[in-house]
Amino acid sequence: METTERNRFRELLDELRSDLRNQLGELGANPDEDSLETGDFDFGFADSAQSTAERGKVLALIDRLRGQLREVERALRKIEDGTYGLCERCGQPINNERLEALPYSTLCVSCKQKESA
Ligand SMILES: [Zn+2]
Repeated sequence: METTERNRFRELLDELRSDLRNQLGELGANPDEDSLETGDFDFGFADSAQSTAERGKVLALIDRLRGQLREVERALRKIEDGTYGLCERCGQPINNERLEALPYSTLCVSCKQKESA
């Protein structure tokens, strides 16, 4: 991958990363911790039944955002070590359209299809 392209993807990933960290911060989660200290959470819901349901939703969202953040950080490390844009399974370059759509893709289209098949 050319340097200019790599820099562009790095910018995309950087933006994604700050975006995800902001979202996690707004939800009251520490982006740098993997496990949730549920005891530290205070979502400020007065009704306890609603609170439990809402809390479940928020925790699921936090989990998803954290997963994405890990992927983005991994992609950024791959940019640094020069393996970014290569399929982790077959080692072939992942096409740019796919990377544009999902900058932290780790598999090429055909490996991804095999995986989900
Ligand atoms: Zn592949």
